[in-house]
Amino acid sequence: MVDKLVNSEANARRIAMVEGCFGSSGHPLGIPGRVLVGEGVLTKMCRKKPKARQFFLFNDTLVYGNIVISKKKYNKQHIIPLEEIKLQSLEDDGPYRNGWLICTASKSFAVYAATATEKAEWIAHINKCVEDLLRKSGKKPLGEHAAVWVPDAEANVCMHCNKSQFNVLNRRHHCRKCGAVVCGPCSNKKFLLPVQSAKPLRVCLTCHDVLTKTKNNGGPNVSLNGDLSMDSSGEDDDDDDEDPENLSSSNEAKFYGEIQK
Ligand SMILES: [Zn+2]
Ligand SMILES: [Zn+2]
Repeated sequence: MVDKLVNSEANARRIAMVEGCFGSSGHPLGIPGRVLVGEGVLTKMCRKKPKARQFFLFNDTLVYGNIVISKKKYNKQHIIPLEEIKLQSLEDDGPYRNGWLICTASKSFAVYAATATEKAEWIAHINKCVEDLLRKSGKKPLGEHAAVWVPDAEANVCMHCNKSQFNVLNRRHHCRKCGAVVCGPCSNKKFLLPVQSAKPLRVCLTCHDVLTKTKNNGGPNVSLNGDLSMDSSGEDDDDDDEDPENLSSSNEAKFYGEIQK
């Protein structure tokens, strides 16, 4: 069905519309062969709290951004190639319902749809696009992916020592290997995680032990016992924007092609 849309005028118009909403803050989206498969608002779990983000599923990429004005203006565009994506469904957990993980090599995060139906639609469409892409390219699905960060609010004390209490002075850090929220002394070492970054990244002491043991050929891991406090902020700076005042009521996800079984 997606193939039918490829050279359609409707598809070209929809893509131009998305491009227009991001304006100069976004990348050009209209490339030959690209199809807008679906769009909608999902709640993305950010470092501080869950926030509404506008998502666009193309047949080759997943694009999302902050909502400045619902259906008119978006910014902070993120583009994730679909070949690098792996999804994992989440069980409903209190207020967090209809969610799943979007995992990639460099970043993994949870999103939540408004309804179970929307969740099922998103997952089915994304997986179908990923499958089609991998079949065409002959590439392998994503192997190792980045850890999903535990949101700040879920940890008042360090998840490693269980003692250190977080406050303005004692700031939270995230282990890049397991995603745990840990204190400075419990994450004063770095380790090279090539899948995520060319530079060694902050890891907790538990992960550092495991990584050192499994990689005893002496990879270029770096131990830093000094002050690492400078990198605790700005790690995910797209989180800083507030939600738009009022999201319009008709925010149901829209998909433009049926899934062929
Ligand atoms: Zn600690
Ligand atoms: Zn860890």
